[in-house]
Amino acid sequence: MDDVKTPSARDPRRLLKRMRELMAVQENAQARLDHLTAMIAQEAGWDVCSIYLARQSNALELCATFGLKPESVHSVRLQPGEGLVGLVARRARPLSTSNARAHPAFSYKPETGEEPFNTFVGVPILRGGRMVGVLTAQTSQERQVGVDEIETLQTVAMVLAEIVASGDIVEAEEMAGLDVRQSRPERFQGGAYSGGVVQGVAVLFEPHVESTRLIAEDSGAEEERLDTAINSLRASIDEMLDSGRIPFGGPTRDVLQAYRMFAHDRGWMERLREAVRRGLTAEAAVERVRNENRARLMKASDPTFRERLHDLEDLANRLLRHLEGDGVHMSDLPDNAIIIARNIGPAELLEFDREKLKGIALEEGSASSHAAIVAKALRIPLVGRLEGALDRAENGDPVILDGEFGILHIRPQPDVVETYEERIRLLSERRLSYAELRGPAVTKDGVRVGVHMNAGLLIELMGLDEIGADGVGLFRTEFQFMVSETLPRLSAQAAVYKSVLDAAGDKPVVFRTLDLGGDKVAPFAPSTKEPNPALGWRAIRMGLDRPGLLRYQMRALIQAAEGRPLQLMFPMIAAPWEMRAAREMLDREIRHAKHAGHPIPSELKVGMMLETPGMAWALEHVIDTVDFVSVGANDLMQYFFAADRQNTRVSDRYDVLSPSALDLLKRINDVCVAHDTPVSVCGEVAAKPLEAAVLIALGYRSLSMASGSIGPVKKLISGLDAEKLGTWLASRLESPADSLRPLLLEAGEDAGLPREAVENGRAI
Ligand code: PEP
Ligand code: MG
Repeated sequence: MDDVKTPSARDPRRLLKRMRELMAVQENAQARLDHLTAMIAQEAGWDVCSIYLARQSNALELCATFGLKPESVHSVRLQPGEGLVGLVARRARPLSTSNARAHPAFSYKPETGEEPFNTFVGVPILRGGRMVGVLTAQTSQERQVGVDEIETLQTVAMVLAEIVASGDIVEAEEMAGLDVRQSRPERFQGGAYSGGVVQGVAVLFEPHVESTRLIAEDSGAEEERLDTAINSLRASIDEMLDSGRIPFGGPTRDVLQAYRMFAHDRGWMERLREAVRRGLTAEAAVERVRNENRARLMKASDPTFRERLHDLEDLANRLLRHLEGDGVHMSDLPDNAIIIARNIGPAELLEFDREKLKGIALEEGSASSHAAIVAKALRIPLVGRLEGALDRAENGDPVILDGEFGILHIRPQPDVVETYEERIRLLSERRLSYAELRGPAVTKDGVRVGVHMNAGLLIELMGLDEIGADGVGLFRTEFQFMVSETLPRLSAQAAVYKSVLDAAGDKPVVFRTLDLGGDKVAPFAPSTKEPNPALGWRAIRMGLDRPGLLRYQMRALIQAAEGRPLQLMFPMIAAPWEMRAAREMLDREIRHAKHAGHPIPSELKVGMMLETPGMAWALEHVIDTVDFVSVGANDLMQYFFAADRQNTRVSDRYDVLSPSALDLLKRINDVCVAHDTPVSVCGEVAAKPLEAAVLIALGYRSLSMASGSIGPVKKLISGLDAEKLGTWLASRLESPADSLRPLLLEAGEDAGLPREAVENGRAI
């Protein structure tokens, strides 16, 4: 079969070259498709060439033909699975036969006049892994179809997919009702990880090859480009694996190992090379192979195949980035861009144009992932766990992202748009009403609660007064490090901290020393390959073992204070000796500053982040060495429930409103109160109205949260009866319930809760 030589097998590149010439001609949609079929038939030596395109009803419509009866165009339609064409579409795989009529799937359509043609070949026209049509070729001679011929038709189909999805064909009247560009409204329900509702346009965060860059001018040069890109892709994967510096938000070690395997897979490379040899550009070859993999693996019901699909897609995207250059664009954002991606790292998020970026929709992501934290800091809605969203959206599609309820609408219908426009208006009204709550937060029964802001970027501090925060309860210093290629110099660090203190004015700021390691990687920081990064060498552990970095940071903080009060705290203290060692280090730095004649802070307060359950039980043994305690509930709950906060499968599996978790939180507060040590909660739980109400009822009088939550939480506080809720809760902390959430929601106002807390409390 391989030996059969035909004109197309001899020179597929000539065919593509002629295709490119045809594309440059100005003509209407129908004429363009007609000319294409005629040209393909002529160049590749077929009696018939036809293009069937998918309709919204899923039927395949004959849209252009050379060789069949012209009157059958737009009148012949095949249902899914009907005939040989339907079979090609259903399987998303090529099919050939030397005797079409003898094939069991053959369906006779007399109006086409196809009786004289015996040999049939059909290949799917795939776009973004979706089947958008079928390209067929027929001839009267009974013969076997060569592998080369099929390969050529597949290459042509790849270019055709982009041609038919281009504006002039999709918009042409005779093509109405086709489904080549996705057009149906889609709604995805995911997790709401950063609030706000926005309307905008989809920007798929994966490289896409423009249709003008599909056909190669010089195939030899393209093959070289492909080889260079594959080599540099392999080198970069090796580098990541060998150095252990796996970028934050990127693939895990195991996945990288799978990438390494695929990147050396001969089958994959051969398919890429073959596509280039047939006249595609290197980028188009990658896209073609990616499309075929997608179409094939998307049909698999086994989830491990789908995982594999993700891996292959990531790899293809990486390869496209290595090819970069003119063909691949992903940097320029349109106005009101809503990024749709599989996942995104916080550093990447910070690189987008903030004027244009309006929202983030992720197929993965979790509530306490750092991308979500950065999104909150930037006040951009982020919705995660939207599985399949990337496959359903097209660049430029209108979208609505609802960060309040975790919903993504792609190509929404007018009534949905109308409803959301109304909601967006109401939300902005509500935001204005928060402005009235700028004063201190006091519950209905007169309890004063400190409401502080979590921040990590200087720009967030600008709105401190306006937002009505009492100060900054957590300044995550590592953000500056994570986006820097080299270790920020002492002067650069000091400058950032000084600007933070300046911006906060007389409001207090609590700096958290570097919390690197685990999932937060700075390009220059020491890093090792660890089997369990969240349980590994991170935060204060790294700081104490390699004191250079931490000492340097302490020095910068002391310098930045310029004789003003300074508050700092250490992350991930898991045993009292760690707190003592960190404090001693700080004392040494203070002595050093004095010695050098530098001003020292007028008042120094040193805190401990309580983020490990073990520390909750050792609290009495350390409390005398700290000036305050800050409960890092994100990590505390991660360790309490042994559920990785980065792992979508488990991150939201357990509820902090379970009696056991609340009991732990209550114990921490009780010990601090008994020792007269200020305590605050700075994890994400403090930012959710229902959870915040419960923390106050447990006795907490200080909370710290992302800026966007301050208004809603202050509003909640003003309507809360803290004592009533405290009494309600006290009798239920020993309840056998998995979570008190349903009970709380049911009791509602009888438990002292304001209505907003109940409305907001349904989601974990
Ligand atoms: C936490 O763990 O709750 C916390 C506030 O720190 P981070 O989210 O930065 O780990
Ligand atoms: Mg933490």
